[in-house]
Amino acid sequence: MEIRITGLTKHYVSEGRTVKALDGVDLTIPANHIFTLLGPSGCGKTTLLRCIVGLETPDDGEIRIGDDIVWSRQKGIAVPTEQRGLGMVFQTYAIWPHMNVFDNVAYPLTVRGLSRAQINAKVAEVLRFVQLDGLGHRPATRLSGGQQQRVALARALVAEPRVILFDEPLSNLDAKLREETRKELRRFLSQLDITAIYVTHDRVEALALSDSIAVMRAGHIVEIGAPRKIYFAAEHRFVADFIGRANLIDATVRSHADGATQIDCALGSIRCAPSEHAQASQVTLCLRPEFLQVLGGTLPGTNVLNGQIESIDFVGEVNEAEIRVGETLLLARTAADTELVVGSQVSIALAPEHCLLVAA
Ligand code: ATP
Repeated sequence: MEIRITGLTKHYVSEGRTVKALDGVDLTIPANHIFTLLGPSGCGKTTLLRCIVGLETPDDGEIRIGDDIVWSRQKGIAVPTEQRGLGMVFQTYAIWPHMNVFDNVAYPLTVRGLSRAQINAKVAEVLRFVQLDGLGHRPATRLSGGQQQRVALARALVAEPRVILFDEPLSNLDAKLREETRKELRRFLSQLDITAIYVTHDRVEALALSDSIAVMRAGHIVEIGAPRKIYFAAEHRFVADFIGRANLIDATVRSHADGATQIDCALGSIRCAPSEHAQASQVTLCLRPEFLQVLGGTLPGTNVLNGQIESIDFVGEVNEAEIRVGETLLLARTAADTELVVGSQVSIALAPEHCLLVAA
């Protein structure tokens, strides 16, 4: 089910101060996509999700789910939450501790007044789907965090919603379990014909889970794209910075020739991949740490920088090295078995295709 949001605005007034939580959001979420709202704390992700669900009343704009307008100020439409055909999974799971797994999952069907036989069949099916069959009689509190999360998912799915919404559902899990549950969730969702909207401030979660990511800032959508597009070819400096570790350097475009763009920046003259942002004269050079090729000694050449290693952190999979090139400190990631010595002179080769220019 496609979701179309136009001109959505929401203010909060708190302690005499007005906060613009959503500032005219326009957004189309394609049917059957896993669509993530990603952004720093306070950018309006949860407010947007709550407006879609109907837990928050916008000030202006329109929300459509499929062909139905569920909220429109102009048209005076406000469909109640329970009639919007949505399922929701929260950070806290919101499962009831005094009920067993079966009763937790059955709850949405019980309040709808389905027959016992219908409830039994549907709950059994959905518990099988989330691989909790056999645990129906287990008290909900006697489950692991990952299993509780699956109960919450089962309860959201049992009523066969048109859209399922997740608000930071993995943030209470420890790192290892979060990764496992994220993979599981991706597998479950890809087996269903359902549109999923997922709120997180965790970029790795967003990259790994999503078909599309909308990066938000201060009540706006800054950029929307597939994970690889956002990571490798962000259009905005804010997005390039938020989605991954990046060296971001102010630059001036000098020329376009031979399918490349030549820029000047604090690192010198650099040959970059062509970019539509290179039409502006002031741009930002984005260098991902994993694409800095660190070589021993001082070497000449185009797109080769000479610098000195200031620090090395061994973080398991890789080394993270800070390398000073003139006034600029660059972060580089190198293979964990690379021998690097603090204080030594090194060269850094930059492949033009990995020199990304983004809007300043
Ligand atoms: P987080 O990741 O921290 O949950 P978020 O991106 O989901 O943040 P929102 O919770 O939507 O952001 O909040 C957007 C803005 O609105 C913030 O400035 C927040 O302080 C403010 N806000 C949210 N809810 C309320 C409220 N009930 N009353 C007053 N201000 C609010």
